[in-house]
Order: sequence, then C-alpha cells, then structure tokens
Amino acid sequence: MWNYSYIFPSFLIMIVFVLYWFYIPRINIGLNRVFIQLIVFEMIVMISDIVSSVADENYFMYPDWQLYVINDLYFVFFFAMAYLFYLLTMYLLKLHRNRMELLHWVMIIPFVTAIILTITSNWTHFVYYITEDGYQKGSVYDYVVYSCLLFYEVISFAVLVIYRKNMPNITRLLGAMGFNFTILMGTVVRWMFPRYLLMDTFCLIAIIIIYLSFTNPDFYYDSKTDVFNSEALTYYVDEIRSFRYKRYIAVGLHNYKELREVYGVSSMDKGLKLIGSYFRNKYKNLIPFYSKEGRFVLIGNRDIEADKIIDQINQRFKESWNFKDTKMYFELDFVMTGENMTIESPERRLEVGMDILADDIELVPGNVRYVEDADVERVEREVYIRKTLKWVIEHETAEVYLQPIVRADNHQIIGAEALARIRDKDGNRIMPGEFIRVAEQNGAINQMGEQIFKKTCEYIKDNDLEKMGISWINVNLSPTQFMNKSLAFKYNSIIEKSGIDVGLIHLEITEDAMVDQMVLLRQIQAMKERGFRFVLDDYGKGYSNLDRLKDIPFINIKIDMAIVRDYCNKPDGLLPSLVQTFKTVGFTVTAEGIETEEMADAMYKIGCDYLQGYLFSPPVPIEEFADILK
Ligand code: C2E
Ligand code: MG
Ligand code: MG
Repeated sequence: MWNYSYIFPSFLIMIVFVLYWFYIPRINIGLNRVFIQLIVFEMIVMISDIVSSVADENYFMYPDWQLYVINDLYFVFFFAMAYLFYLLTMYLLKLHRNRMELLHWVMIIPFVTAIILTITSNWTHFVYYITEDGYQKGSVYDYVVYSCLLFYEVISFAVLVIYRKNMPNITRLLGAMGFNFTILMGTVVRWMFPRYLLMDTFCLIAIIIIYLSFTNPDFYYDSKTDVFNSEALTYYVDEIRSFRYKRYIAVGLHNYKELREVYGVSSMDKGLKLIGSYFRNKYKNLIPFYSKEGRFVLIGNRDIEADKIIDQINQRFKESWNFKDTKMYFELDFVMTGENMTIESPERRLEVGMDILADDIELVPGNVRYVEDADVERVEREVYIRKTLKWVIEHETAEVYLQPIVRADNHQIIGAEALARIRDKDGNRIMPGEFIRVAEQNGAINQMGEQIFKKTCEYIKDNDLEKMGISWINVNLSPTQFMNKSLAFKYNSIIEKSGIDVGLIHLEITEDAMVDQMVLLRQIQAMKERGFRFVLDDYGKGYSNLDRLKDIPFINIKIDMAIVRDYCNKPDGLLPSLVQTFKTVGFTVTAEGIETEEMADAMYKIGCDYLQGYLFSPPVPIEEFADILK
C-alpha cells in the first residue's frame, strides 16, 4: 500500500547528519535549541511514519489501541515539526519569545488544536480511525492536516517578507526562503502522492538547507582562539532577558597592535589560542567569546564572582605564554558595566563596554573600567559622527574654511590654511576637534581629506591667487592619510586634473605622522618628486624630536598655540632659541593661535616669519575669503 523507497534512504542520511552535528561544540542559543528539536523530532517522525505505515498495512496483527498509539505518535510529531520550522524562522528574524510573548502563545493554537483533533479521533473519527478493515481517513483529515501545515508555511513566508530587513544579508534571506519553500513543496507533494511518504525527504532537505545557511557550528566558532566568535556573541546576548551588572567581563589585550608587531603574527595567534583555551578550561560556568583584535568577552548565566575571577586571571597573566621558543607576556584591560548604569538592554551594555575596550578610553592594565551612563552618551555621539561622516563623504558636502596667515612684520595676508567643516543632514555643525579623531579611527579621514584637498585645488583654479596676494594655501594631511601608499599618486592626479601649480599648495603634517620614520621618508620622497612641499604642524604638542626634523625637507614649522600661549604668559629663553635654530637650518616659522596684539608682537620679536590666529581672522567659508582680503 505504501512506497518506502524514499523514506529509508532519507532516514539513513538523517542518522549520519545527527551524529556529525552533535560532535562539534555548539553555542546554546535558541536557534540551535530549535534545530536540535527539529532533527530529533524529524527522526521520530520518520520512525513512526515507517512503523505506523507497516502496522496499518498489517492491521490485523495488532490490537486497535496499538494502532492508535503509533498513528497518534506520528501525527503529534508531524504537527510539531510544522510548528518548529515556523519557530526557527522566527528566531532567524530575531522575533523570538523575548520580544513577542503574546504572539508566541497565540501561534501554538493551530498546532495544539490539530493534535487534540487527532488524538480524539478515536471517538470522533475526524482525522482518522481504525475499523475491521484497518486504517481509515477521517472526514476532515485533509482540512486538519493541510490547513495546519499551510498555516505555518504562509505565516513564515509573510514574516520573512515583512521583516526581511532583520536578516544580516541576502544569502541568509534566501536560505530562509529556501527551506520554507522546500517544506511547502513537500506539503504539496504529500497531498498529491500520499502513498510515497515523501514529506520526510523534503523535511530532510529543509534541515540540510538550514544547516548550510544557519546552524553549521563553524559559523559560530573562532578557530583562531578555539572559542565562540562574535556572531555567536550577537545571538547569545540577543537572547539574554535581564542583565545584571556583574554578568559579563570584557577582556582586552593591552596594546594588542603593538604586541603583534613585537611578537609576530603567528606567535601572537598562538598566544590568543592559549588564552582562549585557558578561559575555556578554567571557567567552565562562563562562556568565552572572541570578538577581534585581542578582545574577549566572558559571559555567565547570572551574576558572576567577577572580582575573584579578575584576580585569578591577573595572577595567570603575570606568567608568560609560551609558544616554541617565544615567551609572550600580556597585560589585560577589563571592562564591566557599572552598578549605577540605567540602561537595561543587554546588547547596549555590552556594545558600549566593547567600544570602550576598543577605543582604549581610560584603561589601566590589570584594573576594571566600569561603564557608566556618560560613556553611553559618548559612544552614541561617536556613532552619530560616524554616520554624519559617511553621509558627508557620499554627498561630497565637506566644507572648506580658510584662515588667513599673515606676515609677522607688516601683518599682510600672505597665505591661508584650509580647515574642514562638516554638517549633518539637518545642518548642525560638527567641529574638527570632534570629528577628526573619529574619522582617523574608521579611515573616513582618507576620503574626507581628499575632498578638502580637491575643493581647495578647485578654488585655486577658479581664483587668481597671485592677484589676491596669496602665495600658498596649506592643506592638512592626517597621519592615517600619510601612511596610505597611494596618496602620492592620488594627490598628484588631482593636481594634474585641476591644472594648477603644485607649489601653491603646502601640506601640513603633524609629528604623529613621524612615528614610522621609514614610511615617512619614502612617502615624503615620493611626493617631493611630484613637487609637493611640507609644513610641520603643531610643533611642540607631541614628543618633539629635533633630531628627526633635520632629515625631512620641511619648508615651514608651525609652533603650536599652547607653546605660544605659554611663552606669552611667562617668557623664557627656550622658544626664542628654538625659533633661531629652525631658521638657521633654513625653515621659516609660523606662530599659531595669535589672539592679541601683544602675542603678535612677542612672536615677531623672537623671529617668527608668519602669524595665524583670531586676531587677524577666524577661519571663514571659502567663498567669503576674497571679501576679507579687501
Ligand atoms: P590645526 O591644523 O592646528 O588648525 C588650527 C586650528 O586652530 C583650527 O581649528 C583653527 O580654527 C584654530 N585657531 C586658529 N586661530 C586660533 C586662535 O587664535 N585661537 C584659538 N583658540 N584657535 C585658533 P579647527 O579648524 O577646529 O581645526 C582643528 C584641527 O583639526 C586642526 O588643527 C587640524 O589638525 C584638524 N583639521 C582641520 N581640518 C582638517 C582637514 O581637512 N584634514 C585634517 N587631516 N585635519 C584637519
Ligand atoms: Mg593645520
Ligand atoms: Mg596647527
């Protein structure tokens, strides 16, 4: 009566699949829990499908109650499967029970109703019943079975379409659509060819699609450190309902990037693996995750004895981590949520903590930095700035302001410095003091700086600088930009396109750009060959190293305004002799931040060639620059 040619091979594949899946470590998240239920239930469905079909064929050999039990078993798990596929779809869209408690209960109704109707069929004969002639379909068999299946399938498709944005990418969305479509096909085939027991094969295919797209344990595992990865972390934290402040410890290797240079990449990776396995083996009731760049998170089920744990970890890190002949020493930064934090959301709490760890804000190795509400505001502001930068870059709306630079002897304008300004979509202005640091961190400074450079070149092209009495315009170059290999080529092609004389532009770099002397010299050489000239900005702000300056062909040194101010408040012999030294070597000198006549006088007297500051003019929009010359 029934055809078993599909269900047997499907069952064998299923066994292999189950064995394999249970072998690899899995993260305890709803998605995986539902998936385990799915594969276990599917096995039960397959077995009970085969057993009940065989029994129904040989009904005369079994008492009625046994036939009822085995058929009921099949139907219960069969309906449960339909529900589980739907539930899995909800988890994938992050619409699980935490978020939608009521809906969760409502959605159980069809599946429970179908089960009740089936189990009571013994008396009602609704779904199926057993007579002297064996198994019989009930009067509403098709309605109950197919409306239950179709109900969940239709709802799954609907939520997938409505909440498609919740999927991280199109591949995942297609995966979810794919397995739901497979079940739908299975339903149709079951209805058309009920004798072939084909539904289970379709369910198996759906399970394989789910595995390939979502639940493969490798997706959630960081093989470098042998702990769960940030993808797992996202899912895991998403399902935490309440978050107490002592639930996680974020841990970061202090100075990770520098250490990577010191120890080399492969030793460092080995070090991370040793640390990962230390966390995993030592703290069985905490789950370690690896985020990136030497940052781990340890999460407990509830409050953890953080002080004790941190003490122990610090103790261990006093010793070395050994790989072959390399002995590596690491220091750790710890971040936890402060007790007074008002934000409830577990994700936000962790996100802010991880941001602080990444930005290295007030971290002291070996100690815990507690995250407070003020940190959240700071992080949010940073996110806003990042978004604004992105928008500004895409829409090319960075504005150039020009601040005049005057001759120290007669206060006549001789040049200008181009300074960047940005506005958000609503026109609110953000100052460089705030956005430059953020732009340096995420690399946006490269495109930003290029925009300012391009717009300045266009200005020079459209205006006769010579007639205006302007000899050059300074454009700032950040250290990050300066490290970029393609800088010389890019800036050169912008100059060529605009057709201006490259000598009209001076590039300002700060001492921060001089950290890597080799890169610096190579870059400067490449750009010098193309005619670019360099100015040293903010001299005296960082670790000023006179020795290094002599190798670099600067034409001008700008003294930082803090140094200028200090000197004007309390004159000493240091700054005058420094200025003289610069001049002997052949640099001209500019004093920044001149706000009063006295400052201007003092700087002229000690030998500065040029002055820049609010006394003469604040930075003005580039289109208004010509007006102030008059
Ligand atoms: P900077 O290059 O040293 O520019 C001088 C800064 O001092 C400007 O601030 C200017 O407005 C300010 N300033 C000028 N005169 C006075 C004065 O008399 N008193 C005081 N208190 N301040 C004065 P701004 O425009 O806010 O820029 C800050 C910094 O941001 C700049 O310092 C520069 O390092 C950076 N920056 C600005 N535009 C760009 C850019 O396009 N690219 C890059 N990489 N950095 C930029
Ligand atoms: Mg500057
Ligand atoms: Mg400066």
